[in-house]
Amino acid sequence: MKSAISLLNRRKFLLTGTIGASGLILGTKVSGKNMVKEALAANFPIVISTWDFGIPANQEAWKILSKGGRALDAVEAGVRIPEADPNNHSVGAAGYPDRDGHVTLDACIMDEKGNCGGVAAMEYVDHPISVARMVMEKTPHVLLVGEGATQFAVENGFKKRVLLTAESEKAWKEWLKTAQYKPEINTENKLYSPKKLPGNQYNHDTIGMLALDAAGNISGACTTSGMAWKLHGRVGDSPIIGAGLFVDNEVGGATSTGVGEEVIRNVGSFLVVELMRQGYKPEDACKEAVNRIIKKKPELSKTLQVGFLAINKKGEYGAYAIQKGFSFAVCNAEKQDLLIKGKSVY
Ligand code: ASP
Repeated sequence: MKSAISLLNRRKFLLTGTIGASGLILGTKVSGKNMVKEALAANFPIVISTWDFGIPANQEAWKILSKGGRALDAVEAGVRIPEADPNNHSVGAAGYPDRDGHVTLDACIMDEKGNCGGVAAMEYVDHPISVARMVMEKTPHVLLVGEGATQFAVENGFKKRVLLTAESEKAWKEWLKTAQYKPEINTENKLYSPKKLPGNQYNHDTIGMLALDAAGNISGACTTSGMAWKLHGRVGDSPIIGAGLFVDNEVGGATSTGVGEEVIRNVGSFLVVELMRQGYKPEDACKEAVNRIIKKKPELSKTLQVGFLAINKKGEYGAYAIQKGFSFAVCNAEKQDLLIKGKSVY
């Protein structure tokens, strides 16, 4: 059933004939019911996220955004969907383990006030995004790692359990036969194709989600099990504020997917937001960040995948990746399940 705001939005779009490319941020001028109406003049509320698994994640986030809810609540609820999916081996509890058989999860979250929290290399606890939010809201810190993150989660009511599923264990044992480490690009697409990923293949990919709510506020979330078969203790970009995720409510937000080491080396998501501050459109900012990475590593350019996704305060969004095959999902009052093929340098 369509929500009231969804129908209102539809009517507004019909009346104006355009979706707010020229929309203004009106959230600060208005309040209460008016706020929702005024927000319709711009292209928000809206939620965007990486890869195909962004579609069901966005739909969950939309339940909150369409009622005028807060972007922070929306992104947390949204990314919990792939975190809980037993068929998803690159995000959350069913993620493939490291080379020693440990499932270690990374996540971070950031709100419109610049508050942020994260967990890295956390074992035995599902829904790392909710633990990350708790780090943000209940501690004076930004990032908890390893055993300390697990301890904090358990002390705050999260259940401790072994995350390695029978399917993940089988894939890991298959991998151990050759134990070659060569991350494969765009494995998420293959995961969701009818032909399932054979157990001995490499696997990574992340959900990064950005939402702009009816009040004009932006929040983001990023969560992953990281690169399958990684060294024990390896942490990628996804839980690192500025690398895997960055939000500046004056400008916009950005998130990333792909080989996290390169994103960290270039402080990728922070770079994308700063480029937007300088006037770049979201897609152009993502493209420039991608170009910086491949300029430094031209020898890797055919095998390395890194993609960025960004949104600005007007609700304009865009993405860019090094390799073809990067997709992202968009959900607003017009489209609940739109999957867009991201552009690539190659
Ligand atoms: N960025 C993630 C990591 O390096 C993995 C991915 O998105 O492919 O851990």
